Amino acid sequence: MRVLFRGIVAACPGCGGRGLFRRPSRRGWLRIRKACPSCGLVFERTHGHWIGAVAVNTVLSTVAILIVLVVAFVVAWPDPEVLEVLVPTVATSLVAPLAFAPISRSLWTAMVVLVLPPDDPPSVGTRPI
Ligand SMILES: [Zn+2]
Repeated sequence: MRVLFRGIVAACPGCGGRGLFRRPSRRGWLRIRKACPSCGLVFERTHGHWIGAVAVNTVLSTVAILIVLVVAFVVAWPDPEVLEVLVPTVATSLVAPLAFAPISRSLWTAMVVLVLPPDDPPSVGTRPI
């Protein structure tokens, strides 16, 4: 659970270190570093590693869109207008994939670490996974 929690808060699944994403700049929060700056855990261990993060992002975004759709429908009840439901839902569908991008990557990396622990022990001075 600790490893998954670290993934949810965009921390390194191995050591809990922060700063996995490049400094805020143009597309900064979308780019995860190649390895943890604290323990050196390499995130992309195989080609196609990030396709799992895309799947996680799709699931998270879909859940967010469905929640907004239901809430908008309930708020507009008993006489819902199309725009009252459509506008917040479409806005969520545009924002959610970008907002969940960092969490999706770190959460996917945490899932991979749980299933396939790193072969190499972490560098000196870090806690083991
Ligand atoms: Zn780390």
